[in-house]
Amino acid sequence: MKRNFIAGEWVEAGAAADNINPSDTRDVVGSYASASAGQAEAAIAAAAAALPKWAASTPQQRFDVLDAVGSEILARKAELGDLLAREEGKTLPEAVGEVLRAGQIFKFHAGEALRPGGELLPSTRPGITVELTREPVGVVSIITPWNFPIAIPAWKIAPALAHGNTVVFKPAEAVPGSAWALAEILSRAGLPAGSFNLVMGRGRVVGEALLGDPRVAAVSFTGSEPTGRQVAQACIRRHGPMARFQLEMGGKNPLVVLDDADLAVAVECAVNGAYYSTGQRCTASSRLVVSEGIHDRFVAALVERLGALVVGDARDAGTTIGPVVDAAQLAQDTRYIDIGLGEGARLAFGGQAIEQMAGKPGFYLQPTLFVDTHNGMRINREEIFGPVASVIRVRDAEEALAVANDTGFGLSAGVCTTSLKLAAHFKRHLQAGMVMVNAPTAGVDPHVPFGGRKGSSFGPREQGRHAAEFYTTGKTAYVAT
Ligand code: NAD
Repeated sequence: MKRNFIAGEWVEAGAAADNINPSDTRDVVGSYASASAGQAEAAIAAAAAALPKWAASTPQQRFDVLDAVGSEILARKAELGDLLAREEGKTLPEAVGEVLRAGQIFKFHAGEALRPGGELLPSTRPGITVELTREPVGVVSIITPWNFPIAIPAWKIAPALAHGNTVVFKPAEAVPGSAWALAEILSRAGLPAGSFNLVMGRGRVVGEALLGDPRVAAVSFTGSEPTGRQVAQACIRRHGPMARFQLEMGGKNPLVVLDDADLAVAVECAVNGAYYSTGQRCTASSRLVVSEGIHDRFVAALVERLGALVVGDARDAGTTIGPVVDAAQLAQDTRYIDIGLGEGARLAFGGQAIEQMAGKPGFYLQPTLFVDTHNGMRINREEIFGPVASVIRVRDAEEALAVANDTGFGLSAGVCTTSLKLAAHFKRHLQAGMVMVNAPTAGVDPHVPFGGRKGSSFGPREQGRHAAEFYTTGKTAYVAT
């Protein structure tokens, strides 16, 4: 059994769970500890005890730890990418790319540790200067989803440690392998015992224990909107309106294709945004909002392109669409396909689960495209989180913008157009945290702030130097001489 890491020790748990390969359900990746609430509390206690030491560490010590972690991740990217593809089901090139991103994130935040910002302001009174500095927040609980098993933990853990906080990390149940490998690297990187703790286990047990403890100063959560709401309520119950939490949640991201779009660019944006990583991305383009002058040509070209995608074992060369992560997600995807058909949407491609590929039993699903849909349908309002997208036909750019913005989510949005004027108009008026012009809705660089608005996100941006806003608290000091 792969154990939890608490107070600098590898700790047994009373229970364990098997990590299953979604490309071949006969393949057990490993057995991983499932912590009790008591172990989560022990991890919080360890992080609280370690805080004074790590918060007082020098920028060079922090740099050395994070840089070493980044270097090892990058050096082992093929092996870690293989593990990630095996447990999550994204294709090997996507998985290796994600590991690369995790390594780059640790390197970036190693640099951030050496660049603690500060400002010196003149006072309006003589003989006085004003210093603005930032300090660690304290113990941070980090709760992550299964769809980016190493990159999302990296973009939370690296800035938390870079800014002098201590960490209790709970990964998603479906993907403990990448999280454990990352923890193992961190365990050898020179951190004081207790500064970083791993508690694998169930959301309802470990996750909840990480929210309600008075020693936890901040919670960074990425996951679904319903869970995010529960996390927010638990934090507020415990800490009142002063609770410090950050939520990154779901999306129903529109990709708008206008009459003057370059057809090849639009089709590539749709295929990449809606179907790569098996559509299991919060930034996936699940609503393709297409104006009527290009609609039929776009649908025909997209259907032809979908026919060329290869569904298969995530680790087989040539696979372009890996399996869905697990049985529950596959059941959710196929339930929404039935809902779409019941709502009168028409299948232009796919729609079928596939029980076996090349003799391997797995959670495979054809890339699925609905046409003849409207924005009021449940398939266009609720996050499905699989390789399923809908085309919504609109009259013109004005209606496209209205439909794109008519959603409770606001993470990412894209527009395909060759008009500078229309590009500028959509960039300005799309109600999303991230806007992509002639580029897929998914795929933000590791040093660029990431986040949305409306039901998709709450709190400061993640990634890049902007991460400091959540992981530090400001101090203003007056010095009279
Ligand atoms: P989820 O909400 O089911 O679980 C997320 C995490 O929360 C897991 O670690 C889970 O164990 C934990 N959890 C569950 N119940 C909890 C509780 N009551 N208290 C505390 N923790 C609890 O999400 P998921 O299925 O793992 O991930 C998919 C979702 O994540 C999608 O909605 C997707 O859009 C979203 N996502 C968002 C972003 C973003 O940055 N906006 C990025 C990736 C994924």
